[in-house]
Parts: sequence; C-alpha cells; structure tokens
Amino acid sequence: QQRLDQRTSASKAMYVEATKHLSGGVASSYQGRDPWPIYIDRGEGPKIWDIDGTEYYDFHNGFGSMVQGHAHPAIGAAVAARYPLGTHFGCAVPDSVVVADELAARWGLPKWRFTNSGSESTMDAIRIARAFTGRDTVMKIFGSYHGHHDTVMVSIGVPYDSIGDRENYASLSYGAGIPQAVVDMTVAVPFNDAPAMERRIQRLEKEGRLPACVIMEAAMMNLGVVLPEPGYLEAVREITTRYGIVLIFDEVKTGLCVAPGGATDRFGVLPDLVTLAKSLGGGLPSGAIGGSEEVMAIVESGKVYQVGTYNGNPLSMAAARASLEQVLTPAGYARLDQLNDKILTGAREIIARYDLPGYAVGIGSKGCVTFSEVPVRDYESYKENQDVPLTELTWLWNMNRGIFATPGREEEWTLSVTHTDESIDHYLAVFDELAAALRA
Ligand code: PMP
Repeated sequence: QQRLDQRTSASKAMYVEATKHLSGGVASSYQGRDPWPIYIDRGEGPKIWDIDGTEYYDFHNGFGSMVQGHAHPAIGAAVAARYPLGTHFGCAVPDSVVVADELAARWGLPKWRFTNSGSESTMDAIRIARAFTGRDTVMKIFGSYHGHHDTVMVSIGVPYDSIGDRENYASLSYGAGIPQAVVDMTVAVPFNDAPAMERRIQRLEKEGRLPACVIMEAAMMNLGVVLPEPGYLEAVREITTRYGIVLIFDEVKTGLCVAPGGATDRFGVLPDLVTLAKSLGGGLPSGAIGGSEEVMAIVESGKVYQVGTYNGNPLSMAAARASLEQVLTPAGYARLDQLNDKILTGAREIIARYDLPGYAVGIGSKGCVTFSEVPVRDYESYKENQDVPLTELTWLWNMNRGIFATPGREEEWTLSVTHTDESIDHYLAVFDELAAALRA
C-alpha cells in the first residue's frame, strides 16, 4: 500500500481538490478505491499514464469498453471526419443504418435500436419484454449485474451469509433508494442450474407471476469469468420458449469482447433480445438492443417507447462503424484469442508450478485468475470459496508493477487488440514474482 501511495502522490493531491465539488472525488461510484482514486492523464494502445506520469499496461480497459485499445487511429479518423459535419441532430444518420446491418448479420437478430449505455439497453429490453408478454415479473441470475436502473439493482453484492436458499432466493435491494415494490418484481435464480430455474418458474406460475423475461449473461463476467456448463444455455432457451418468456442475453460485456457475434455467436444459442454497450462505441457512449422480428414488432407498432435524445448519436455511430469494419473484425478476434491463450497458458503454468490455490479462466478478450480451491459455477460458490485477501493482494501487487486493473477484481482483465506479447509477458513476469513471494 505504501508503495502505491508514493507512486500516486499527484492523484492524492487531486483527490483533495476534487472532493470540494465532485462528490467523493469521482465522476461516478466505483471509479476509485481507498485510499484515493487514481486520476488518468492519457492512453495510447495498450498503455495508460496517470497524472503522476506513472505508466501502466491497461488490463482494466475502461471496464471492458476498450477492446480496440486507446486512441485507435481508425476510430480517431472516423470521429475526426464526423465532427465537422455536425455531431447531433436527433435523427438517424447513414452510419446507424450500416451499424444495424452489421450487428444483424453478426448476431442473427434482424431488428436493432440504439442507446447510450448498457443500463439503457437493459432497461429498454426489459420494457420491451414486459410489453410483449403483458407480464411484470423479471427473472435474473443471482449475483449478476445488468446496470443501474431499479429493476436490475436486485440480488447482487450480497454477503455469503445472506444468500439463502438457492431454490427460493429472496429479492434483495442493491443499495438504498429502490422501492421495495420494484425489488419484489425481480426474482433471482442461480447460474448454471436450469432445473432450479424451471422449478422457480413453475412456482411463480402457480402464484400467477410468470416472468416476462429472463435476463442473463451467457457467461458471467462479474465473478471473474464463469463459463456456462455444457447444455445449460440450450436448456434455458428451451425452458423460456416453453413458458413464453423472452430470453435476453445481456451482452454488454460479452458482446464485443468474445467473438464477432458475441456470446450468442460463440455459444450458438439464439436469444430473443440482446443488449450491447461498452466496446460498441470504442470509447464513446453507445449501446444497442437487437431482437427478433416478433418481439421488436412491439417497438415498431408504437406500443412501447424506446427513446433517447442521444440514441444513435452520429459520433458514436461513426466510431462503432469504424470499429466494426476495421478493428473488431474476425482477424481482430483471432488476435484477441491468441493473446488470451498466451496469458491463460502462462498463468496456468505459474499456478501449477507454485501450486497456488486457483485457476485461470477466460474467453475472447476477457479472463482472470480466480483464487479458489474449487471451480466457481455461480454466485454462491464464488462467495463461499474465493480467497479475498489473496485477491486483494494481487490487485495491489499488480498496480505497483504497472498493471492497471479494475478496483475490484470481479473482472480482472480485458485485453485489447493493441496488447502485445510484451504486455502479456509483463503480466506473467509480475504474477510469477508474486507466486514466488507467496511461496518464499
Ligand atoms: N450489463 C452488464 C452485463 C454490465 O457488465 C454492465 C456494466 N458493467 C451493464 C449492463 C451496465 O452498463 P453501463 O455501465 O454502460 O450502464
């Protein structure tokens, strides 16, 4: 801790200044951690520099939003070309048509709308599902994060002791300010357990509360990475179809990070709706909702409003178009797979050599070392088994050695196409050093 304090003294001074008028010294909660946030000056490719001039390899990548790397020239050129032509009209521009066409081809879902963030995408998708089914209840996965609107700020961040019975999880508010009536409308079930999901649906049906939708990530991305077990997504697809429940894959994290057509493409299970954001805009605020003809017809009929002043903003659309056409191409994903393979293989070798209590897991640009004796398959097993002190120590160890990571280690790394063998080697050397120190 002391070393980090010395390396970030300019951030410390800015924090004192910032707290005068910026609540908590940050623009948004979770943009820093004790004892003070680190303020960033600039980024280029796989590197960022904080206001002390300290250089880091960026494995945080803006909470998984910068798979393109920082200041990518192709995206810079597209944004620079768009700016003099005007940046906002409240009307669709040709780039939004091109981006929708491209997303439709990649996801195999024909109809798209745009938003400015992941929260807006999931909020609108849930409203569409409620309008389509005429039902109010929302089913989600216990422990999953889907944004900051009331309906989904439920049953996340729950301490292990309060998790309760997995067959009948209570609906728990995540933070204050969310009406209990709204919390009660959201029901959570465990990940990787389709029979438990079906049993809960059956009980809700008896109560006259069949869900409008199941909103889930195809691979959980906030417990480190938790992959779906074989057959799980197929079973969820079958169950939701049978009960007339709209299946929403929240691909805000997985979407542009794991394959040209996201987790939908990677796992081969087609949901009714998909939500995107983060890397779609290559660092500009953007989001999208994709859906089947049948479900999106409710939007086209005008029965449900999917609105937003900045939706499909020309700058974001120019960035998204350049990103899809020039950066996040099949070759881009092949490069990410190659880099991730290198870091995962290296991490596994270190874990085995030092006999560390953990494992490395990843997909596409995402991955982590999970310090747990047993594989994590859902929120409960994560909370029960994760070695929190070791996880915390690793964050500090890495930050002191030029590896920038998210303030919590719920998501450890997102690589960008600009990461290099050198940056991966650096990560592995630092991990090796940590392992050696732990075993000394
Ligand atoms: N869904 C998922 C799966 C996310 O990980 C996040 C953000 N971490 C969101 C939705 C919300 O996105 P945003 O922060 O852009 O509102």
